[in-house]
Amino acid sequence: MEKDRLFRCASCGREFRLPGNERTFRCPDCRGKTLILLEGESVAKRKCAGCSASSCST
Ligand SMILES: [Zn+2]
Repeated sequence: MEKDRLFRCASCGREFRLPGNERTFRCPDCRGKTLILLEGESVAKRKCAGCSASSCST
């Protein structure tokens, strides 16, 4: 089970949590997509350990 992440919206400053399995990162207030990760695992680098292929789907 993945952990929640805590974000702050760069546009309106609202802080909110998203579940770890959430794939759509967007501010619930202003729909802004520029979010600052305050707590939790980074979402930018998704790479699985034993795989260097760009077609990796896990
Ligand atoms: Zn916002």
